[in-house]
Amino acid sequence: MERMIRGRFAPSPSGRMHLGNLFSALLAWLSVRSAGGVLVLRMEDLDPDRCRPEYAEQLAEDLLWLGLDWDEGYGKGGPDGPYLQSERTQQYAAAFGRLEEMGLVYPCYCTRAERLAASAPHRSDGQAVYGGRCRNLTAEERSALEQAGRRPAWRLKVPDEVWTVADGHMGRYGENLLRDCGDFIIRRSDGVYAYQLAVVVDDAAMGVNQVVRGMDLLSSTPRQCYLYHLLGLEPPEFRHVPLLLAEDGRRLSKRDHDLDMGALRARWTPEELTGRLAVVAGLQSEPEPVSPAALAEDFSWDRVPRTDIVVPRGLFE
Ligand code: GLU
Repeated sequence: MERMIRGRFAPSPSGRMHLGNLFSALLAWLSVRSAGGVLVLRMEDLDPDRCRPEYAEQLAEDLLWLGLDWDEGYGKGGPDGPYLQSERTQQYAAAFGRLEEMGLVYPCYCTRAERLAASAPHRSDGQAVYGGRCRNLTAEERSALEQAGRRPAWRLKVPDEVWTVADGHMGRYGENLLRDCGDFIIRRSDGVYAYQLAVVVDDAAMGVNQVVRGMDLLSSTPRQCYLYHLLGLEPPEFRHVPLLLAEDGRRLSKRDHDLDMGALRARWTPEELTGRLAVVAGLQSEPEPVSPAALAEDFSWDRVPRTDIVVPRGLFE
């Protein structure tokens, strides 16, 4: 028997959704609904400085306005809660403890400036490769740094090995964990567990077996696969979707207020907006109004582009 697909939305409630977030959410929803699967909504509100409960409420309301519903999670409950990452610290601490027991976690005292100065050339996604400066500090060096008032972040030691993901939409993508990424942070110096650890713990705990999300996270996926392996968990199927670009080639972001949900909802009905998103996703040739439910009837991943998509400005204005 084919197993039931369990997908998820995992937004960060740090502001209003924009067109790019909505595009990924629509595809995640279509992929699950067209296969009769289950959707979970988890709020990734790990960062207390950026996330707010009112953004989470707004996010959920914006998804429902478009017609993207979910079966378990935020506002609904379910067997695998809590569904706010800020309430799941114990689960992250347990996973962190297991990695520590394997001798794979070490404190890193580098300031941001030191990290950048000591890092290898930048990776393709613009992040620096950590050069391992704090990997082999002696106990004396550590305590001297502690005494100087430095609070460490915690890094996971990675091997000099290529880890490859077979992305269901984009094909194979691999990285040498040590050379292309370096030991990465799994807990910040303020105690907050890092996205890379939390997302793996949560997707596994919530039985998620299909992850649909933006291409910007493809380069995180080999690291996440390595964490699944270390924690003895089975990774989901990943399907990364193209990023939406403005006409000048920039990535659309939360700064493009004219394309955030507030502006989009003022201009379009849910069906009009879905029709336009469907053109961008290759699912319709004309921006005819349509509901997500109608699109799910003959949804096929084969029609969704595999490269970044320049969004014609006029389409959403
Ligand atoms: N919370 C992340 C974001 O909003 C997405 C994480 C994921 O889909 O793995 O960018």
